[in-house]
Amino acid sequence: MYQMIQGTAMLAAQTGWREWKSMDALFFLIALPIVFLYGICIGSFLNVVIIRLPRGESLIKRSSHCMTCGAKIRIRDLVPVFSWLFLRGQCHSCGEKISVRYPIGETLNGVLYVINFIVFGGINPGCFVNFLLMCIFTSLLVCIGWIDWDTFDMYDILSILIALLAIPSHFLTENNISVKDRLIGAACISIPFLLIGELVGVYIKKKTGEKVRGIELGDTILMACAGLYLGWRAMLPAAFIGILLAAIFGLIIKRITGESKFAFGPYLCMGLWIGAMFGEELTNWYLNRMFPPEETVSFYSSLIWF
Ligand SMILES: [Zn+2]
Repeated sequence: MYQMIQGTAMLAAQTGWREWKSMDALFFLIALPIVFLYGICIGSFLNVVIIRLPRGESLIKRSSHCMTCGAKIRIRDLVPVFSWLFLRGQCHSCGEKISVRYPIGETLNGVLYVINFIVFGGINPGCFVNFLLMCIFTSLLVCIGWIDWDTFDMYDILSILIALLAIPSHFLTENNISVKDRLIGAACISIPFLLIGELVGVYIKKKTGEKVRGIELGDTILMACAGLYLGWRAMLPAAFIGILLAAIFGLIIKRITGESKFAFGPYLCMGLWIGAMFGEELTNWYLNRMFPPEETVSFYSSLIWF
């Protein structure tokens, strides 16, 4: 049996990358379910943040309660995902439906943590800190994106928390993002966003007299803060993917609902998460293709001469 498990884990290690190669089979098998459970528990708190922050309610005071009848939620009904399934999505007291967004938010956070662990997790302390920071980053993105989806509003305090992650990321983890990379990262997307937002705003005001920005300041601040944490190598593909997703989903939403107003934040958040995961590799791959290393160049030039 253990042989089989070991074999499966080795296969995962070979197909995976980074720290997987040095990972022990048993560690791999024990860690993933724990990471998932940890993720859904944090996801449960994120649901509270997403609902209460826009209403200005305290995040820690007052225990969870039914939205309809106000009944306090029992301790045994607080288990993420499982309680919702056990209650078949209904309040124990009044039988009113409990929104499916709660288990979705919890599961989403759990799944993202598992992917974070597969990409960044490892036995050595530097890897572990990096993984924890990525989890905080992921959860902040879930909150920012979801709140923007709900309310068309961004809470800059959440973006600033992302910027603060740059400090432990710089001193406690092993990465090759220099201070210069971080500063360029902070500016490379936020400044174009600021300018485009301003210009489009002026254009709209001229045309319709409405006072709106092309790109909200909240989105701009988010991109500046995330740039400090990720550096420019991850930021460029992150912004590209975010804008692409926004364009695609924006068109789909307009097709279905006829509504042209839509929140930019959720897509930027998706782009940032994908950028944090694979952005550096994407940029390096692209740069290598555009500006091949010496040997390749001389190989091609020798072909031409030949
Ligand atoms: Zn109720």
